[in-house]
Amino acid sequence: MTGIVEARQATRHHRIGQTGVTALRAVDLTLARGEHLAITGPSGSGKSTLLQLLGGLDRPTSGRVLIDGQDTTRLPQADLARIRNRVIGFVFQAFHLQLRISALDNVALPLVYAGVRRDERRRRAAEMLARVGLADRARHQPGQLSGGEQQRVAVARALVTQPAVLLADEPTGNLDSATGEQLLDLLTELNAERGVALAIVTHDRDIAARAARRIVMRDGRIVDDTHRETR
Ligand code: ADP
Ligand code: MG
Repeated sequence: MTGIVEARQATRHHRIGQTGVTALRAVDLTLARGEHLAITGPSGSGKSTLLQLLGGLDRPTSGRVLIDGQDTTRLPQADLARIRNRVIGFVFQAFHLQLRISALDNVALPLVYAGVRRDERRRRAAEMLARVGLADRARHQPGQLSGGEQQRVAVARALVTQPAVLLADEPTGNLDSATGEQLLDLLTELNAERGVALAIVTHDRDIAARAARRIVMRDGRIVDDTHRETR
């Protein structure tokens, strides 16, 4: 099976002075198109490192990462950024929105890098904001929105380029549990309706239980990989 993103014997070592930390140890993982994966494991087990490698935000020190079939290992930075912009959407725990621009302009931002014309950017951003239930918040700046609303803006921004994959690192970590559940409902709907593959790092058992596939990490390795029975 070829996946939309794939790690092959991916290792990530950080050198720190005379010593070092191995954040990820020879991990093999294939995320298929349309898949819904939860990544769990204790703090420090390598979840964020894995997600960043899969999304091309970081590179392995040995082994390989393939994004849409392209080996990213020796790809120049600009080419990697282009593939990332086309294939991957990211959502972070702390939202990472631009604070001085509107929700609409935040969502439109990836389309600037993708070279989409201004009127088309605004149209697509407005459509995406409406899809996440925030049509009436388009002109608000992030500081004028609740945490749950800000994270929905971040989801809209991640998906406005119509990526094949959404990578989310503890996306509900800063939300109360009811708001977190609503965000997960939204991500699950988008997975079903658009076929966007989801990989979600989470500490929340309920959220992990909703994924069709769950991996557990420990000490930089995948120690369990379970597919839930579906009908
Ligand atoms: P998790 O997301 O599961 O909490 P991380 O992937 O963030 O774990 O980190 C895995 C391990 O790698 C941890 O021991 C962490 O301290 C270490 N690590 C991560 N990033 C760096 C870095 N930039 N420099 C040094 N060590 C790092
Ligand atoms: Mg982490």
